[in-house]
Amino acid sequence: MCGSDAYRKTGWYKYLGFAGRTKRGSADKDEEKRREGGGEKRAEMARSLSYIAPSQLISMSRNPRVAIVDVRDEERSYDAHIAGSHHYASDTFSEKIPDLLQAVKGKDTLVFHCALSKVRGPSCARMFLDYLSEMKEDAGIDKVMVLERGFNGWQASGRPVCRCTEIPCKGESL
Ligand SMILES: [Zn+2]
Repeated sequence: MCGSDAYRKTGWYKYLGFAGRTKRGSADKDEEKRREGGGEKRAEMARSLSYIAPSQLISMSRNPRVAIVDVRDEERSYDAHIAGSHHYASDTFSEKIPDLLQAVKGKDTLVFHCALSKVRGPSCARMFLDYLSEMKEDAGIDKVMVLERGFNGWQASGRPVCRCTEIPCKGESL
């Protein structure tokens, strides 16, 4: 089931890409998605949650449209964090979703994580997806993902971390 889902999504992207190029060039692709009823399809795509490995996140985070959302609670303050990540603690997450949406304006991919990405990360990501699907307007978010093994896995595999105390972290992306 997952496989056919993925296939369908790829097919949709390919179709959009192709249509964009033939009509107005690929630079207009995003705009085109928005204009031609992309919002509905986008909401449909965004409803499914996918997982991402640290190595994939390293390359993805160079994309300025990707935002990392840390939903750990107080441990964020004494552990390090992924540079440039937003912090929305899981215990108050549901009421902060509108703030988060504001903070990630212009991003199209959100990657959630907690310490292990076992419970808090995926459940906040799902809450966020539900919120998106109930929104009337298109928030512009294509993908909601969860970082596999969370911050602990990230740090244990020697990926770079930031120890600043600024809120929000202004660290360069990785
Ligand atoms: Zn930082």
